[in-house]
Amino acid sequence: MTFSLPIRLSKSKFLSGLQCTKRLYYEVHTPELAGEIDPERQAIMNMGTEIGEIARRRFPHGILVTETYRQTSAALRRTTELVEDQTTSVIFEGAFEWQGTLVRADILERVEHDTWKLIEVKSTAKVKPIHIHDLAVQAEVLLGAGIQLVGFGLMHLNTRYVYEGGPLDLEALFIIEDLTEVVMERAANVHKQLEEMRQILRAPFPPSIAPDGHCHTPYACPFWANCTKEKPDRWIYHLPGSRQTFKDLEAQGIETIDEIPAGFNLTVLQQRMKDHVEWISPEFSNIMQSVVYPVHHLDFEMFMPAIPPYPGTRPYRPIPIQWSNHIEHENGSVLHDAYLCTEPKDPREEVAKSIIATVGDTGTICVYSENERHILLSLAEAFPLLKDDLLKIVERLWDLFAIIQQHYYHPNFHGSLSIKAVLPALVPHMAYGDLSVQNGAMASVVYRQMAFEEPDLIERSRMASELRDYCARDTLGMLTLRHVLQEKAAAISASSWENNIE
Ligand code: SF4
Repeated sequence: MTFSLPIRLSKSKFLSGLQCTKRLYYEVHTPELAGEIDPERQAIMNMGTEIGEIARRRFPHGILVTETYRQTSAALRRTTELVEDQTTSVIFEGAFEWQGTLVRADILERVEHDTWKLIEVKSTAKVKPIHIHDLAVQAEVLLGAGIQLVGFGLMHLNTRYVYEGGPLDLEALFIIEDLTEVVMERAANVHKQLEEMRQILRAPFPPSIAPDGHCHTPYACPFWANCTKEKPDRWIYHLPGSRQTFKDLEAQGIETIDEIPAGFNLTVLQQRMKDHVEWISPEFSNIMQSVVYPVHHLDFEMFMPAIPPYPGTRPYRPIPIQWSNHIEHENGSVLHDAYLCTEPKDPREEVAKSIIATVGDTGTICVYSENERHILLSLAEAFPLLKDDLLKIVERLWDLFAIIQQHYYHPNFHGSLSIKAVLPALVPHMAYGDLSVQNGAMASVVYRQMAFEEPDLIERSRMASELRDYCARDTLGMLTLRHVLQEKAAAISASSWENNIE
């Protein structure tokens, strides 16, 4: 069977086809094989829509084509009217079609009587290669449809912009980079690329393409689970580190980690994954016993808004919103302390003051990543009066992630040292599966809904409780993990002491 009907493509389908023609084939013929959009991906898409709306405010005389993606004919008609109306200076979301390819243009700005500049809006902090392709396919369609384009720009966020309060300074918040030359060069290939894609789409079967690194670049492919369902547990793709290792092994016909020949050049972590045994460094025991009581177990959660919400903040700059601290005293007693900002307000000063209070001035502060250090340093920069106290806290940090990275490995880590992999491996009853919020990205999404989307009181309270549970699990997990590792360290000390007296 072949598909003989005319195949209409769109900008997003074209970009999917550039990433992988099998992905394009699935999107057109078997979209039901795609995995569900996770909340994190949905949040990124929502943010893109929000940024697009804010970007339009920089062109106050622009007119929006309100017809939706399902009202193609009406959208095309309305766009034609606006193009022909010489009083229209800027069109948002104009619809254009040429030889079966449909695009919606974010911003089309009239330069002179019949000439236009096309501007694509992205929520990123810089131009990426995919953006050039994005503009190139629009160039192909708009030029084909008779629009005289004399310029192409990409409008993205300026991460150096510091919000000073009041209305956003849209001139400073966005940067428009001129990409005319490179887009015109790239556009010369688009017609051929579209034809090749249509050819593939007419075939009775999807192209035979093996999953590998291309499936996640520039976007995570929604068909990953479908394409990898037959792969073995110890597939070489799961090796941590450079994708080049995967490619080199694949080129040699090696599929599982256990088939990797001795002597193949692997990183330390890759080698540990291949060895598949528990490994402990000689220094591990001393390091695990080096903590000073009371031992704090500290974790921050944060969100990174694209549009800076508070004076003194910048696009995508992390803003701490909560912390949890499990405090273990030398007598074995454990106290829990926590903070969560539930209001739509700048939480940074409260976070800074409450963190100084909770950790006091004695004891090791156990963390799991460099994140806490970065947050404390950014708070120290933002609040000069608290700087000395915050820098003293930084000096007390004891990073369990770095310790594990250098001194311990367990086969159940499966090559990942993230706490989401390490905790279930060593403390199975403390995995995250029973929680509504299971990772930092989800925490950020729930926080945004709780603080900014005005849920009712019951919803707000539920969200706050989910966030507290998640952050507390991280710090209680850290404490339990530290105990498990300390017991291993004590067992090593005992056995080496016994060996010495034999
Ligand atoms: S998972 Fe990879 S190989 Fe499969 S369709 Fe997606 S990009 Fe193509």
